[in-house]
Amino acid sequence: MATTARRHLPTYCALSRDQLHGITPPRPNASTVDVGAFAARRNANDVMDSACKSARVEERFEFDGWRFVAVRDHILPSLCRHGDDPNDRSACHVCEYGTELKELPSLPEMIFPNNTLTISRCDDPSVSVSFDALSALRLVDAKHAPEVKVGPSDSWTAARKGMDALNNTLHPYDWTYTTNYNGSVHGMTVAETSERIDMEKLKRREPIQFYSQLTLFEDELADHGCASLTVRLRVMPTSFFALQRFYLRVDDVLARVIDTRLYGELSERRITREWSLRESRIADLSPHERELVLDPNMLWTVLPVKQVVCHSLTIPSSPTSSSSHPPLSQQPSDNLSPQVVTSHSSLASS
Ligand SMILES: [Zn+2]
Repeated sequence: MATTARRHLPTYCALSRDQLHGITPPRPNASTVDVGAFAARRNANDVMDSACKSARVEERFEFDGWRFVAVRDHILPSLCRHGDDPNDRSACHVCEYGTELKELPSLPEMIFPNNTLTISRCDDPSVSVSFDALSALRLVDAKHAPEVKVGPSDSWTAARKGMDALNNTLHPYDWTYTTNYNGSVHGMTVAETSERIDMEKLKRREPIQFYSQLTLFEDELADHGCASLTVRLRVMPTSFFALQRFYLRVDDVLARVIDTRLYGELSERRITREWSLRESRIADLSPHERELVLDPNMLWTVLPVKQVVCHSLTIPSSPTSSSSHPPLSQQPSDNLSPQVVTSHSSLASS
């Protein structure tokens, strides 16, 4: 059976962190007295299947022609699971990730293969924008080590060696798992635009009709920092706003935030997508800014903007066949040289 190069993962379907919240231990009662006999009647597979099924939470909201679906589910297990058919590899995320990401010497500690956020049209579900972990990890550079211009740094060297030793590899790859993934677009016309998301509109105090957030992957970089990819969504009476955030912190060395924002007016058949890269050496941050490094929700407001690219996603008036938008860039975003630099003073809080 194939296994991916993973570590520290339980051999059962672990619950996601989100799922673990709110779960309280069962109180002893008559039905748990015979727990030993009960457990004996179930084999390990039954227990795992049950855990996987109970971990899944799907939230769905429809409003003004738009459908929003958020799925939170279990972590990627470390062992193959093919259900009743051992030859059915399509049902096994371990095989899927092992095959699709075979060039990557290691994968993040925690991957949530079923976690997705999908925004689609009620009248044509093939028109959609979605976010998922596999699509994001496909864009991680599997050939080159991260070339961050931080100069000689004991911390950086220690972090790199820690990752190499942990994963028993000297094969260069981007062990920060930096990804420029900006969502999977189907059935919409994608055009670059100079139009930014109007953050003033987002500042308006509107009631939130639907809110959801989920994690796609996370890794602690061999205890030298954190790399995570999260998604959140809020729907207001007249608009919706989604944010996918890649957050990287290499302790004492580097902080990076890559955001993909989607903003749509519910009455329109168009979504504005704003992708931005912010990063800084830790040494270049002020003492106050360094205090924010552990909090991605604050950190992004003080990191200098290195690049911004905006797209307009338009729903064609006539139904079209599904097509996938090519990723923005497969280049590793380690380049510290400013390209399309814009002021981030106009960017409001997410
Ligand atoms: Zn498998």
